[in-house]
Amino acid sequence: MTGRAVTSLSNPTVKAVRALHLRKDRDATGLFVAEGLKTVTEGVETGRAPRILLHGAEAGDHPLMIKAIEATLAGRGEVIEVTPEILAKVSRRDNPQAVVGVFAQVFTPLGALEPQAAACWVALHRVRDPGNLGTIVRTADAAGCGAVILVGECCDPYSVEAVRATMGSIFAVPLVKASEAEFAAWRNDWPGCVVGTLLSAEADHRQAAYVRPTLVLMGNEQQGLPADMAALCDVNVKIPMRGRADSLNLAVATGIMIYAAT
Ligand code: SAM
Repeated sequence: MTGRAVTSLSNPTVKAVRALHLRKDRDATGLFVAEGLKTVTEGVETGRAPRILLHGAEAGDHPLMIKAIEATLAGRGEVIEVTPEILAKVSRRDNPQAVVGVFAQVFTPLGALEPQAAACWVALHRVRDPGNLGTIVRTADAAGCGAVILVGECCDPYSVEAVRATMGSIFAVPLVKASEAEFAAWRNDWPGCVVGTLLSAEADHRQAAYVRPTLVLMGNEQQGLPADMAALCDVNVKIPMRGRADSLNLAVATGIMIYAAT
């Protein structure tokens, strides 16, 4: 017995999952949508049981799917077989993934971070683009960063777009939310160096002394890092640009900084 079958778009669970495309519904429920068997499996393997698991008929007997179903049922979650039409509506895609999991959001408190646990940590000031944020979480995971800290008003790391861009790393990297004031106060006790990134900086990013643990601070896509945030850093650096581009994409710049610091 794996669960029940649903064919109606007006089913209340299906409607609730579709509503998780909206930030207000994610904020109200503390839930988010993870699409695809790979991402759902990442969640299950990191000990997070889906609250709801929707799947197409053909996905039901894949060995990883069986594990995901077992984890969902063990956590008292709901497993529902749905039609391709429902999967398309839930994903807002013509070619949806055959599996969709709904998981609880997790945020780590700033004060719970242990700076010595990783060589590099990432702080993003007012990141706006979910694709950038998801790509940065994926890169932070790949490089073994300690956390991604969202400073000030940021886009939602648990939006469907951001989660897609993480390619499963959404479950692997601690996410932290902090106001500018909280971050400024917490940064005072940082045992390593805090490296800001500024287009106007004199120092080349390759010349900075990355005293570990290194905390890399990145600016917003439009405005960059404001003066008060740059002033919190031990050093501000620039990644050289040799062509006509006036800046790098935020996620690309973050990737370069993470790997320079590790
Ligand atoms: N107009 C913005 C500005 O003046 O900073 C451009 C922001 S850029 C698209 C977004 C962020 O990526 C920047 O705040 C910085 O953190 C990082 N960044 C992009 N290019 C960079 C570079 N060449 N050197 C250092 N950081 C860079």
